[in-house]
Amino acid sequence: MRDEDRLRSELGRLDGRGYKAYKDLTGSWAFKRFELRIDHVQGDPFATPTRVSVTLSPERSGLPPSAYANEARALGTAAHLARGFSAEARRSTSRTHDRTGHSGEIRMQDPGQVVLEQSAVQLTTEGILEARFTIGLPARSRRIDGTGAIELLLERVPTILAGTLLAGAHNLAKVERSAATNEDAEALRSELAARSLVAFVADGSVLPRRSGVDDRPFDAPAVTPCISPETLRVRIEAPNQGTVLGMGIPEGVTLVVGGGFHGKSTLLRALQAGVWNHAPNDGREFVVTRMDAAKVRAEEGRSIAGVDISPFIDGLPGGMSTAAFSTPNASGSTSQAAAIMEAIETGSRLLLIDEDTSATNFMIRDRRMQALVPPEGEPITPFVDRIKELRDDHGVSTVLVLGGSGDYLDVADLVIRMDAYVPLDVTSQARATAERLPTGRKMEASAALSLPSPRRIEWSSVDPGRGRRRVHVKTPDDRTLLFGSSTIDLIALEQLTGRAQIRAIGLALAWAAEARTDDHVPDILDATMDALSQGLDTFDEFKTGDVAGFRRQELAAILNRLRSLRVG
Ligand code: ADP
Ligand code: MG
Repeated sequence: MRDEDRLRSELGRLDGRGYKAYKDLTGSWAFKRFELRIDHVQGDPFATPTRVSVTLSPERSGLPPSAYANEARALGTAAHLARGFSAEARRSTSRTHDRTGHSGEIRMQDPGQVVLEQSAVQLTTEGILEARFTIGLPARSRRIDGTGAIELLLERVPTILAGTLLAGAHNLAKVERSAATNEDAEALRSELAARSLVAFVADGSVLPRRSGVDDRPFDAPAVTPCISPETLRVRIEAPNQGTVLGMGIPEGVTLVVGGGFHGKSTLLRALQAGVWNHAPNDGREFVVTRMDAAKVRAEEGRSIAGVDISPFIDGLPGGMSTAAFSTPNASGSTSQAAAIMEAIETGSRLLLIDEDTSATNFMIRDRRMQALVPPEGEPITPFVDRIKELRDDHGVSTVLVLGGSGDYLDVADLVIRMDAYVPLDVTSQARATAERLPTGRKMEASAALSLPSPRRIEWSSVDPGRGRRRVHVKTPDDRTLLFGSSTIDLIALEQLTGRAQIRAIGLALAWAAEARTDDHVPDILDATMDALSQGLDTFDEFKTGDVAGFRRQELAAILNRLRSLRVG
């Protein structure tokens, strides 16, 4: 194999030549402490940067066996290493100046606060570590800058590797904490079902985030850690942490009430993020929610393809049927009804709903409105009249944030009041209030809610290709997916973890559209999740470092927002 000295002389030889000559670097290079693979060389300095990778044995990475003793530990360690490498790469890149295109950049996909299978750093339970990142091969105008390339490949890349991934780089206490925290989070989540809980919030958890666009923990001293009310406190044994105390939210209907700005939405957001694990010090590392939890909300203007929303909306003006409802432009209420039925179709048995992002007419219809507008003139059966039925007949639990309507007090199993960020169990007061002040409403649901039969996709309506390209999948930002010639708006999908996950789902949908294993939505989800369990590269023919894992809920949610989608 070609070695470091050979790389140096090769770069000397290439200096000043046309940029395309960089292609000669493709392949493996043996450095003293690692082997660098140049997987794909960019065509010009402005193109997507060059993809490189490094594979390390446990001897070379110096990671202790405890860092990868099982899958949960390996994932925690890998996310920690990816965070470290991407931060160092960012620092190193910010020190390079006067660039042509991407010249001199070193980048790795940053996993952020979430711990999830991701392709930037993968670690097997045998301790084999693979890191994938990109480098911008340096150019002077459009010619090869050999000196710059020598600095990049023979100095900066080895320095970052030595500082983050190679033996001697690791803070072993931090590695252990990353591995142990992730193993504990998995253990806590796996305890939920046996205890008939939908979520667990460990005492001391820090729920608020730094800002609406910054997922790191709120760092002001003013933060109030979450402490469980006595009545809801449960204790769960975790393999590393030992006994963890915290608030257990049981299956059924839970209301989160309280004054404005008292932390209701913040609690719900922590629960919706609790389907993912988080890094140590995130504040939510021991906030865990059932794996199938779905945040559902109103999303005016979205498209809907053949969803049975008739349990909630029936008898639209003009007699339009809602048993297979399609529209390119949903209203608040139809979009929220569709989101619920779609979540149930994926198998979700926990709905998370916030009044802040709900359509009022979907949620409630009080006595006065019932008196003014007769049922014949109102297509909507409000959620309050379906929530018990969902629980009793279909095993669907709901956690609902509500400050404005007391009509739900009658149907709640548990009422949590957020009081200056502190959760209180006010269930008995809520019962007494409901008895003392009856709503006077009439129940509106006329027929029983039946779960929809699975939709069948018309695969011709899911086309990942564009122009001459068989697969066109791009993630211009963290709320948009370009799929074939469609643009999918993801702004309402609050449980997505970021671009790597979105890209993976785009590629997975392209895979599904080619495989056409089946055409029933739940079977498509099964087949695709099966393929994902073979590894992230299943969908990514270029084996990039830019993809991350996902749930069937995210996969379905993105498919459901493809505007061209048609169902049979
Ligand atoms: P609500 O939904 O009840 O109106 P939010 O959850 O939106 O309230 O919270 C209001 C504000 O309080 C937000 O800016 C949030 O970051 C902050 N906040 C939430 N929980 C806490 C907490 N435990 N400690 C300190 N600040 C918090
Ligand atoms: Mg709120």
